[in-house]
Amino acid sequence: MSQPQEILLAEPRGFCAGVDRAIEIVERALQKFGAPIHVRHEIVHNTYVVNDLKAKGAIFIEELAEVPPGATLVFSAHGVSKAVQNEAEARGFRIFDATCPLVSKVHVEVAKLAQEGYEFIMIGHKGHPEVEGTMGQLEHGIHLVEDVADVARVQPLQTKLLAVVTQTTLSVDDAAEITAAVRARFPSVREPKQQDICYATQNRQDAVKVLSAQVDLMIVVGSPTSSNSNRLRELAVKLGIPAYMVDSAEELRPEWFEGVTRVGLTAGASAPEILVRQVVDRIKALGAVSVRTVPGMEETIKFPLPKGLKIEAAV
Ligand code: SF4
Repeated sequence: MSQPQEILLAEPRGFCAGVDRAIEIVERALQKFGAPIHVRHEIVHNTYVVNDLKAKGAIFIEELAEVPPGATLVFSAHGVSKAVQNEAEARGFRIFDATCPLVSKVHVEVAKLAQEGYEFIMIGHKGHPEVEGTMGQLEHGIHLVEDVADVARVQPLQTKLLAVVTQTTLSVDDAAEITAAVRARFPSVREPKQQDICYATQNRQDAVKVLSAQVDLMIVVGSPTSSNSNRLRELAVKLGIPAYMVDSAEELRPEWFEGVTRVGLTAGASAPEILVRQVVDRIKALGAVSVRTVPGMEETIKFPLPKGLKIEAAV
């Protein structure tokens, strides 16, 4: 039985600026106001991150009725609907919004175009909290399509003022195909000036494309609920590479590595680097002797924290 020889690390991989910011918001809220801090939904879709914050005093809830009066509440990076926002305000919580600014940008666009009379076609995955949050920016007028077949079925009330928006963490190639189908059916549809799919999703998918040409197996570190992590695994499979997604190093199975010389390793935008390191150690224990990073797009973007959680400048 041959063993893996080399691990090739994707770059970029792991945390994006929106995830960094969301986790920091919860950590700072814990420091400033003390435990417990309530968080609506998993702050980001990663088991390790959620458990770590739970240990520090965060309580994750789905329904606002579970949050006691006067509590501090953080909205997750995926964003919330207007109804959730209004209910949280009405209940009088101290609120910090960890919605990724790139998701908020889509919300702002929807609100602005709705005022001009637009109806929307949203490309996304049904039931994902980001989709619920974006669709919930309006009471009606956003139609969800998940694939090309849905585009043929969708029935907007009018087609003169129609705009397309997308979830930020889709497969870039699938979204392009679905958008093309929307354009073919509704030629005057308005498309975002810059795609709604975020830079982090795009860059991590680009890195998997580069890596897939060089490896026999792809491992993606990410939780099953993480949209962008799932898309990375699917992309490698589409490119003809066997690929597995693992939430932790313990999930790696020795039989995956049989006959494999080079292993590609990446991580979704919500997966911390510590898990990547643990996966590297485990693959080394299975025989890999070298680790090499395949250079890719450098990411320097950082998002500011909300007011009230910034460190005050020393006087
Ligand atoms: S994956 Fe993209 S949209 Fe989601 S938190 Fe990261 S930067 Fe924001």
